[in-house]
Amino acid sequence: MLDIKITKAAALKQKPDESNLGFGKIFSDHMFVMDYTPAQGWHDAQIVPYAPFALDPACVVFHYAQELFEGLKAYRTADNTIQLFRPDCNGQRMMDSAVRMCMPEIPVEDFVQAVKALVEVEKDWVPHSDGASLYIRPFIIATDVGMGVHASHNYRFCIICSPSGAYYAEGIDPVRIYVEDEYIRAAPGLTGFAKCGGNYAASIKAGAEAEKLGFAQVLWLDGVEKKYVEEVGSMNIMFKIDGKIYTAACTGTVLPGVTRRSCIELLKDWGYEVIEGKLAIADVMKAGHEGKLEEVFGTGTAAVVSPVKELDWKGDKVFINDSKIGPVTQKLYDTMTGMQWGKLPDTKGWIVPVCKG
Ligand SMILES: *Cc1c(COP(=O)(O)O)cnc(C)c1O
Repeated sequence: MLDIKITKAAALKQKPDESNLGFGKIFSDHMFVMDYTPAQGWHDAQIVPYAPFALDPACVVFHYAQELFEGLKAYRTADNTIQLFRPDCNGQRMMDSAVRMCMPEIPVEDFVQAVKALVEVEKDWVPHSDGASLYIRPFIIATDVGMGVHASHNYRFCIICSPSGAYYAEGIDPVRIYVEDEYIRAAPGLTGFAKCGGNYAASIKAGAEAEKLGFAQVLWLDGVEKKYVEEVGSMNIMFKIDGKIYTAACTGTVLPGVTRRSCIELLKDWGYEVIEGKLAIADVMKAGHEGKLEEVFGTGTAAVVSPVKELDWKGDKVFINDSKIGPVTQKLYDTMTGMQWGKLPDTKGWIVPVCKG
């Protein structure tokens, strides 16, 4: 249990126009900060006015990228309850990532307490409009000063909040995906399962090149044989082939998405066979040409689900479901967003109320 000191901002910012929020552009009035030193452990938990940090230019995070982040949302229901979706899963994932990155762990209860405390202070920043939410970004950075390459001794944990618009403001629009055949994102033994900035730094080039060709994202193949599908830019990915759902197993190279595991649980509840394992891209393309590739969709907190209409692999193309969202993708979207915004009962115990808005 953290003892959180709250210092309110003297003047509050003007709330933005909700019709034009976009993603991650505007930040709320306060942030949560907590520091770690070897002598004191995590200490000095505070909610303070949102402001820049002063950091020494020789800080480890700037040079060797010892850093982790998380992403989750706070939702406002019709009766003005502010609520979270499975924040304990984000806390647990951050701790699993911390072990890989030699960073000190934060107890999951403390992580959830910090998120709830900040969201309660910022409850007026949780948007009211349909589909909009307050995006929450916890992160940990290494703050030792010095250029030696070793694990930092000192860290800062911070949480910031950004009101974000509906992902599908113009309706759900299926995307084109480029199957990346040159660059890789992860390989066994590396940090693919950790939500660390370094994974993103290494993936920007592939994303930029695909975007130039008119694709929304890349689909990463395994880093050893470039044979098996893993995930897309910032989402996991699922394939419905001949009635069964396939997705890559979380064996160290794939980010274990909270949306991914939630979709798998729902799909199993609905009686679908879900296969977590190796799926060769050649088999996906073959299924596509044989008319058996029924649905393809990404899963992630930002979009919930993102239907795919086209896959391009080494010049071969398959088109999926007439460029329309498929029925299973739609049902997942409706069920997940229904629970998140309180329009459907929380039959899974996934919703964590924070306060009245
Ligand atoms: C965050 C992330 C996801 C999705 O995880 P969710 O918990 O569902 O938001 C998938 N892939 C990568 C690389 C990610 O960083």
